[in-house]
Amino acid sequence: MDSMAEELNQLIALQKVDNQLMEIEELKGDLPQEVAQLNRDLDDLGAGIQQHKDQLEGLVKDGRHHQAQVSDSRVLLAKYQDQLLLVSSNRAYDALMSEIDGAKKIIDDGEMSLLEIEEQTHQISDQLKADELSLGAKTTLIESRKKSLAATIAETEKEAKTLTRQRTKLQGAVERRIYLTYERIRSAKDGVAVVPMTRGSCGSCYNELPAQLQREVKAMDQTLPCPSCGVILYYESE
Ligand SMILES: [Zn+2]
Repeated sequence: MDSMAEELNQLIALQKVDNQLMEIEELKGDLPQEVAQLNRDLDDLGAGIQQHKDQLEGLVKDGRHHQAQVSDSRVLLAKYQDQLLLVSSNRAYDALMSEIDGAKKIIDDGEMSLLEIEEQTHQISDQLKADELSLGAKTTLIESRKKSLAATIAETEKEAKTLTRQRTKLQGAVERRIYLTYERIRSAKDGVAVVPMTRGSCGSCYNELPAQLQREVKAMDQTLPCPSCGVILYYESE
């Protein structure tokens, strides 16, 4: 066999191994992408839950702060109101009234803030509960998807290993320049770079090949690209 014919046969063998590897990949279906997506969702949910927990912690702190202010102001207010009974001058009375107004304002504002905090706490707690439920459901889902994926991988592992070994051997035998061309076509053609001619047409794009090219392909002694789509053609008795 001359070297160009050998080259073609190596590429045909490589493509056959790659076809089988692609079939194995297909058995996994969307599972790998689904698991990856679920992992991202779980990360996002986890981050969201942590954020909400931090927010709730902050609200508890704010609540305590406002609660303390309101309590202190109530004590002061009661004290001022007692003192009001004892004042003797208008000036002292006015000063005390102003203190009383100040304390009342602090109490009102504080109570308003406490109401807002309560409302926010409810909202965030509801969101947190929903996120935790969703996290639980997605965790169950991802476990089951991972199991299916692991089962498929286990079923095909031996075959995939054998094929990968064959592939490495074939790749080593093919001239690097030719291999790179093969890979370039493969990445542009959904993994298929070498296809048989079928009834005088390209097996990839189905365009009819010129008679001269058909004869050359049949000779099986060189790597010939399809003039329409660029895949490498070979002949296989039909
Ligand atoms: Zn073609």
